[in-house]
Amino acid sequence: MNPTPTPPETTLLAEVVLPVPLDRAFTYRMLAEQGSEPLRVGDLVGVPFGRRREVVGLVTALHAQDGVVEAIDGAKLKNIGRVFPAAYRVEGDRRELLDWMAGYYALPPGEVLPLFHPPAPGTKKRASRHESPVFPTSGASAPELTGDQQRALDVVTVLLDEHKYGSLLLHGVTGSGKTEVYLRAIAEALARDRTALVLLPEIALTPQTEARFRERLSDAVAVLHSGLPAGERCRVHEAAAAGEIKVVLGPRSALFVPLRDLGVIVVDEEHETSYKQDEKPRYHARHAALIRARAAGAAVVLGSATPDLETWVNAESGRFELVELRDRPVGRLPLVEIVDLREEPSQDGFSRLLLKRIDESLGRDRQVIVYYNRRGYARALQCTSCGEAVLCPSCDIVLTLHLRPRRLLCHYCGFSRPVPETCPACGEPEPVSSGGGTEKVELALASQFPDARILRLDHDTTRTRGSHAQILSDFARGGADILVGTQMVAKGHHFPGVDLVGVLAADDGLHMPDFRAQERAFQLLTQVAGRTGREDPGTVVFQTWQPDHPVVTAASVHDYDTFARMELEHRTLVRYPPVVRMLRVGVTGRLLSEVEATAAAAAALVREGLPDRGIEVLGPAPAVFERMQNRYRYQILVKGTLGKEEKSWLAACVRTLKDRHRGVDVLLDFDPVGLW
Ligand code: ADP
Ligand code: ZN
Repeated sequence: MNPTPTPPETTLLAEVVLPVPLDRAFTYRMLAEQGSEPLRVGDLVGVPFGRRREVVGLVTALHAQDGVVEAIDGAKLKNIGRVFPAAYRVEGDRRELLDWMAGYYALPPGEVLPLFHPPAPGTKKRASRHESPVFPTSGASAPELTGDQQRALDVVTVLLDEHKYGSLLLHGVTGSGKTEVYLRAIAEALARDRTALVLLPEIALTPQTEARFRERLSDAVAVLHSGLPAGERCRVHEAAAAGEIKVVLGPRSALFVPLRDLGVIVVDEEHETSYKQDEKPRYHARHAALIRARAAGAAVVLGSATPDLETWVNAESGRFELVELRDRPVGRLPLVEIVDLREEPSQDGFSRLLLKRIDESLGRDRQVIVYYNRRGYARALQCTSCGEAVLCPSCDIVLTLHLRPRRLLCHYCGFSRPVPETCPACGEPEPVSSGGGTEKVELALASQFPDARILRLDHDTTRTRGSHAQILSDFARGGADILVGTQMVAKGHHFPGVDLVGVLAADDGLHMPDFRAQERAFQLLTQVAGRTGREDPGTVVFQTWQPDHPVVTAASVHDYDTFARMELEHRTLVRYPPVVRMLRVGVTGRLLSEVEATAAAAAALVREGLPDRGIEVLGPAPAVFERMQNRYRYQILVKGTLGKEEKSWLAACVRTLKDRHRGVDVLLDFDPVGLW
């Protein structure tokens, strides 16, 4: 039997926000004898909620009341279950970030909270220390900086010395020494007893990158990635809070690590769309990084060869400092040859010129990258009799033919089915495949160059853990002659052995139904072209149906400025971001009639409820992907800057709409990115 506790004199009442879609705090109590340490605002606590035994919440306010309080407003009070260690407190710059995100993205703070702690905070299991793989590197000594690199570094050191927030756009062609600047800026921060955060697109988190940072910055570096077990995440979280780890490398989710005294936040490849989370909370890590840095008094370095136009506008207007690295300190930018596919027919996707260039390259014992941004063997399976293509039953999107294993696959929901012998629509035999994919490209290369060792890098060859890094390191150490792949081959790797990059369809991405299609196409072409000429001269071949397309011509001479000017003129004309802000109101559901009705109601509400002030409402209209995973999708686009009150009004509208139309989901996506 437990001894009867002595009644405490006071009851501590805590306001706790929880990850539930309700914009309010919940009151819990803590009896005096419950905790040995006093509860504080900012503490992370575990509390019972509804039927759930423990939900992780944040204490946002505290007050004491005399005696034992049992209920408030007739509702029986529940006790706080446990208080997590101090390492999990959300305070200072992280608290400011949380509040900003809740306001900017119109979400209850509790729904933003899960970003700020590992999935199972306080997981006690002591994970083994992460062993970084051994990787060949060029040697640890730091080169002498070029004048432009030094100017960039000076911007950061001045901010560090003044303990001030400021941002720098480091616009430098691929291989121009941006990473060198990051390393030096971080070293300067460490020298001042500050810490640093490096955000990278997930795909760039290779052992190669990790090794380079570790080698130069010693052991205080930790790497986060999506594959880490909860225990390891907790270890990094706690070690960062304790000051044992001073540099964290990771994808967008690493932004929330509790590093103290942040001096520098680096956002590498800042134009990458993976910085935007496409599920709730739909935040942009670059934007959030600027907010955290402002709150922490830290410097932000945004690096890219092809800055996002929004970043570019900020640099042009002087809001960000701008330093350009125009040349490569080692090697030089490759020469791009353009093949006009209208003039020169291709064989299995390869023009004569490209085949010749590959042959020459292999003859010199150098390596080749072939880029084709579509995986699988053929884009579709189509009936020669009725013309129907085989669609995904839940997405209304064509299924892609894959050979290994031989199946039809939906690239959006993962549905797969055997390859039919007859057309599912009309029953005629032998539907035929059309269009290409990396599997077909690989086979074509193998038959053209039977002696070449070929590796393929795409979603299908990188399913198993570590296989992505394995393929890259095999190729980097010369274990293959040709690397074929999707845009995965374009990102960030340093392959000194590559002297040829072949782009099979340079105009491929230009005609997507996305106002950013040209920008994305330019970025990809520039990135992939940058994979060669890293040390010795390199060549790039762009095969295209539109050799005069301004995106193709600008990318072929590595001319970002011309592209950016032209694209901005266009955006200004049609009023699209970055010229205006944009919000997507998305409506999804299983019943088309319900989705249509909700979308119409939402559009009417938005049109009536937002005072004009230059706000423009488009839609409702079916989304680009009209039906995905059995859900119909409609969207309304709102162009213009919305204030805090307008945003909370919108969030309230969403709640009303969802209450009224059960089974329909309504979402707000501020600053949306990509096709939807
Ligand atoms: P980026 O990040 O822009 O792709 P890196 O920082 O990786 O460029 O630099 C490309 C190559 O140039 C690397 O091998 C790097 O060591 C080298 N490098 C960078 N800066 C200098 C410099 N100032 N002097 C000599 N070599 C440099
Ligand atoms: Zn599907």
